[in-house]
Amino acid sequence: MDEHEILIVGGGNAGVSLAAKLLRQGVRDVALVESQAMHRYRPLLNYVGGGQATMASLERPASHVVPDGCTWIKDRVVSVDPSRPSVLTADGRRIGCRQLVVCPGLEEDWDAVPGMADAYRAGWAGSTFDVESAPHVWPALRRLSRGRVLFTVPPEPAPCGATALKPLTLACDRWRRRGVLQDLDVQLILPRQSPLGVPRADRVLESELSSYGVQVVRNAHVTGLDDHRVTVTSGGQAQEIDDVAFAHVVPHYRAPRWVVESGLAGSAAAGLVDVDPLTLRHRRHPAVWSLGDVADVATRPSGGALRKQVGVLAHNLTADDEASMQQYDGYTVMPITVGRRRLMLVEVNRDGRPAPSRRFPDLVRPRRATWAFDRYVLPKIYYRRILRGKV
Ligand SMILES: Cc1cc2nc3c(=O)[nH]c(=O)nc-3n(C[C@H](O)[C@H](O)[C@H](O)COP(=O)(O)OP(=O)(O)OC[C@H]3O[C@@H](n4cnc5c(N)ncnc54)[C@H](O)[C@@H]3O)c2cc1C
Repeated sequence: MDEHEILIVGGGNAGVSLAAKLLRQGVRDVALVESQAMHRYRPLLNYVGGGQATMASLERPASHVVPDGCTWIKDRVVSVDPSRPSVLTADGRRIGCRQLVVCPGLEEDWDAVPGMADAYRAGWAGSTFDVESAPHVWPALRRLSRGRVLFTVPPEPAPCGATALKPLTLACDRWRRRGVLQDLDVQLILPRQSPLGVPRADRVLESELSSYGVQVVRNAHVTGLDDHRVTVTSGGQAQEIDDVAFAHVVPHYRAPRWVVESGLAGSAAAGLVDVDPLTLRHRRHPAVWSLGDVADVATRPSGGALRKQVGVLAHNLTADDEASMQQYDGYTVMPITVGRRRLMLVEVNRDGRPAPSRRFPDLVRPRRATWAFDRYVLPKIYYRRILRGKV
C-alpha cells in the first residue's frame, strides 16, 4: 500500500490551493487524488451564462495547476477508512496517509427534483452551475423576446448559490437595452424570504430586481419540471408555473455518497463532512480534516471562504498541538452583478452579519470597478496566486 504524509481527496479550488500552501510551508510528501483532466475557475461560469465569458477562458489542464512536488494520483476515491486513515480508489488501489484531507466538493442531486435532468436534456431548462449546460444558457436567454422565464437561487448547501442571480441580472440588463424586457414575465424563486438574508444588501438588490420588473416567489423551491411546466413548493403548498420558455433552474446539491457511507458525515441532511467548524478537524477522527464546499463549517460555501480556510488548515495540519491551532471565522462572500457592468460584493461571517474585508470603499454598493475586478482580475489572481498557495 502506498503511504503519504498528507493525502488530499479532490483537486478543485480547495485541494490544489491547500497542496500548494503545504508544499510552500515545507511539507515534503503531499499527494492529491483527482481524476478530472480539466480544472475550472467556476465563478466565471456565471459570466458564460451572461454572455461575458467563454468556457475556454475559465479552463486549464489539471496538469498545469497541480503544484510541482505534489504527487498527483489520477484516480477517483470510492471509499475512506477514517480510522487508519486510508482511501480506496476506483482502480482498486488502497492509499494510506498520516493525515487525510477530504475536499471533493458537492454533487448535483438530480433525483431531488423529478424531471430536472430531462428538462436539461430537452434544452428548455439549464443553468450556469452545470458545466455541460452553462455554454447553452446565454444563447437560450439572449434570443428570448417574449414569454415567461424562470430563475432560481438553490437551497443550501450549494456552491456560492446566491451567484445564480448573476445570469438573471445580466439577462435583464440585456433585455432592457433591447427594449423587450416589458414583454417578458421574469420570475425568481428564492429559498428564503430575501435574496441574501443580509438586510442592507437585500435592500439594494430588491430595488434592482423591482426596477427590472422581476416577480419574486419567496421561501420556495422547485419540486418538479415537466414539459415547460415548473412546480414550485412553498410552505407545503405546490403551485404550477406554466408555459415556461426557459428555466434557469439550479440543481440541488449534496455531498458525494461515499462520504456518508464511509462514516464521515454528521447529522446534516446533505451528508456534509462532520468537522469542527473552527479548526476544520473531523469531530470523531483526529487524522481526518475537511474544507471547501463539502465541509460542514456552518457558513455558505464559496471560493472566497476557501481563501481563509486554506490558510487555517495548512497551519493546523502542521501545528504541534491543539492549543496552537488557528480558527476559521466563517467568512464567506457573495459577488452579485446587478447589471452588465455593475457588481455588489457581499461579505459576511458565520452569523450572516456583514464582514467587509475593507471599510472603504463600501463594496456592497454596486460599482463598475468591483465588476471589473470580479470578471477580469480575480480569475488571474486565482490561477497565478490562489492555486499556487500564495494567498
Ligand atoms: C456557477 C458557480 C459560480 C460560483 N461563483 C462563485 C463566486 O463568484 N465567488 C466565489 O467565491 N465562489 C463561487 N463559486 C463557488 C466556488 O467555485 C466553490 O466554492 C469552490 O469551487 C469549492 O471548491 P472545492 O474544492 O471545495 O470543490 P470543487 O471546486 O467542486 O472541487 C472538488 C474537486 O474534487 C474532485 N472530486 C470529486 N469527487 C472526487 C473523488 N471521489 N475522488 C477524487 N476527486 C474527486 C472533483 O473532480 C473536483 O475537481 C461558484 C460556484 C459555481 C458552481
